[in-house]
Amino acid sequence: MTGNEDPSDHLTVTPPKTWATGLPAVAHALEYSLSQTSVRRTALTLLNVNQVKGFDCPGCAWPEPKPGRRHRNEYCENGAKHVNDEATSRRIHADFFREHSITELDGKSDYWLNQQGRLTEPMVKRPGATHYVPIGWDEALGLLAGELRALDSPDRALFYVSGRLNNEAAFLLQLFARAYGTNNLPDCSNLCHESSGWGLRQSLGIAKGSVSLDDIHNSDLIFVVGQNPGTNHPRMLSALEETKLRGGRIVAVNTLPEAGLIRFKHPQKARGVIGRGTPIADQFLHIRAGGDLALFQALNRLLLEAEDAAPGTVLDHAWIEQHSTGFEEFAAHARSVSWDDIHAATGLTRAEIEQVHQRVLASGSAIVCWAMGITQHKHGVATIREIANFLMLRGNIGKPGAGVCPVRGHSNVQGDRTMGVWEQMPQPFLDALGREFGFTPPSHHGLDAVRGIQAMLDGDAKVFVGVAGNFVRATPDSTATERAMRNCRLTVQISTKLNRSHTVCGETALILPTLGRSDRDVQASGEQFITVEDSMSDVHASRGTLPPASPQLLSEVAIISRLARLTLGEQPAIPWEEFEADYDAIRDRISRVVPGFEDFNERVRQPGGFNLPNPVNQGTFPTPSGKAVFSRNAFEMPLVPEGHLLLQSLRSHDQWNTVPYALDDRYRGIHNARRVVMVNPDDLAELGIADRAVVDLVSVWRDGVERRAAGFTVVAYPASRGSAAAYYPETNVLVPLDSTADVSNCPTSKGIVVRLEPAPTA
Ligand code: SF4
Repeated sequence: MTGNEDPSDHLTVTPPKTWATGLPAVAHALEYSLSQTSVRRTALTLLNVNQVKGFDCPGCAWPEPKPGRRHRNEYCENGAKHVNDEATSRRIHADFFREHSITELDGKSDYWLNQQGRLTEPMVKRPGATHYVPIGWDEALGLLAGELRALDSPDRALFYVSGRLNNEAAFLLQLFARAYGTNNLPDCSNLCHESSGWGLRQSLGIAKGSVSLDDIHNSDLIFVVGQNPGTNHPRMLSALEETKLRGGRIVAVNTLPEAGLIRFKHPQKARGVIGRGTPIADQFLHIRAGGDLALFQALNRLLLEAEDAAPGTVLDHAWIEQHSTGFEEFAAHARSVSWDDIHAATGLTRAEIEQVHQRVLASGSAIVCWAMGITQHKHGVATIREIANFLMLRGNIGKPGAGVCPVRGHSNVQGDRTMGVWEQMPQPFLDALGREFGFTPPSHHGLDAVRGIQAMLDGDAKVFVGVAGNFVRATPDSTATERAMRNCRLTVQISTKLNRSHTVCGETALILPTLGRSDRDVQASGEQFITVEDSMSDVHASRGTLPPASPQLLSEVAIISRLARLTLGEQPAIPWEEFEADYDAIRDRISRVVPGFEDFNERVRQPGGFNLPNPVNQGTFPTPSGKAVFSRNAFEMPLVPEGHLLLQSLRSHDQWNTVPYALDDRYRGIHNARRVVMVNPDDLAELGIADRAVVDLVSVWRDGVERRAAGFTVVAYPASRGSAAAYYPETNVLVPLDSTADVSNCPTSKGIVVRLEPAPTA
């Protein structure tokens, strides 16, 4: 593929792989990297990514080992692809936009758009224009500032943040939004781990994971639930391999038998290169989509019954007594969940669940890891609370090898929240921000991503500013989202590469090109570094090493600082110019506003940075009662009418977030096509649909609106019964905007009721 054309769409299917990584992963990483840039730049990026003096891989939020234990090649296939996708030598200049109208660009695939290379200068689309044209930075930021000042309420603007944004820029963005007068700070977390935040906050008082890499290595039993680490957090497999080599056990719970959960071949170890690698899951639960709440309810019921049979031997009464509330109500409810319901919801036999139960009884410590397979269901928050119940029963919070582990996707999605990017930051944070900068932040909640789309549709939000990310493709209900964006007076994208959010835009649109994670960042005071926080709350520095893709790029910090000055005027209490010149000045302020960041500048300069301790590991639970909360979660299972399936959207292996790097999904054996739906052969037989039939996916929702994704090829695949899987963003169109998780408002992208209709023949 040259990158200037779409790859051909000729599906071939091979058997799903039964192991992940190994030398083929190295070969694929190098092949993609060298298709993007030179050998020298590839070497420069790969030698610096995830190194103490290098830059943080933007691929995901899996943590690095401590400095002395890091490998020279501390990256995975997808990390290598991602950093070289950013470090590409391809460039988009003004003549590109002269040659291609916006309509023409909108007709191109996501793959094609991404392959055009790095954006190099600010561009504007004026009202009624068909093309983007160049615009200077001063004029572009002046235009945006003017639109913001002209709004009749600050709440008519949205400031969307993707998890690529670093801590310093995230802190400035939320400061600017609040000084301007709004809490409208939707972020990509609204779309993925929002349910984790709510479930953990309600159960344990803090919306973050509690484990470290050492805990993972030394745990007796790890559950990997609704998560595909082989594709989405590949270096997690090295950590799980370490667990296995130290004698720990792993239970994988998934609707698909993912390769990385079966066996891992470590490409830097002899047994991974010439041997068979390490088996990962000791037990695989092939669960129905959305059945995880019922699974943990079943495990909790078994633990309570085991305690009844042998009092004082199963539960950690001392922990429950000292640290928790609500045990009795929870226990009464847990005992009442019926095995018929559990079987119907999970598709698992009682024997399979009892086997897991025996593993739990044999384990002194346990960790539950999860990702979107849990959070993007209607009952995602309840499932996470039930997971917390499960761990608390045996005191598996706050001891070595135990705890909760929501595995975040984007590299700084957790850090952005810590920095205040949330539409409903708690009042103590707002008070501290106001004290530090001498203003009163708005206290009414802002709009999250889903409510933001609705506000744009309704004409209540007029200006959209997206910092990093690809909002149009990351969000549900694509048709509604696209209408919403086109309904805006002004849409602004601060981006490194071209994507759909530039082609689906408002009456006026700006593209503001920015530095990538791998680019060197030099400001008035000299070379800068930025910081990030990973899934395990390690905060560390990241220094780009490559010359920027264009001399016209500004850092996100510079863009936000200049925009703030133009919008708000000079503010003695908020020295925007100083912030732009020297990021230490931002970190000094963060240290005075954000708990846990005391002496930020000093501590982050230590090799490997520092860890933000999770209070639950010290027995402190910041809930209203000061205790961990056992919750009573109503049994729930997705209702799927006969003749329908529960569809989950997912990534292919050769994809990063919304960006496909190829049309393949290597581990699942899908090649040269993305409009594919994977369905269990027995379900296909029942539905009377043949393998390789071409169908339209039609989602069924209470509003009666037809949402259709046309022309998908059916692939008979070992998905669990009643479940189907297809790639996003192609299937986002099927997720109704108001189909969201209870409490968290996270889109239910893993639980879409669909029917498969034969596609009309041409
Ligand atoms: S595991 Fe994640 S952070 Fe690490 S190299 Fe791979 S993609 Fe990058």
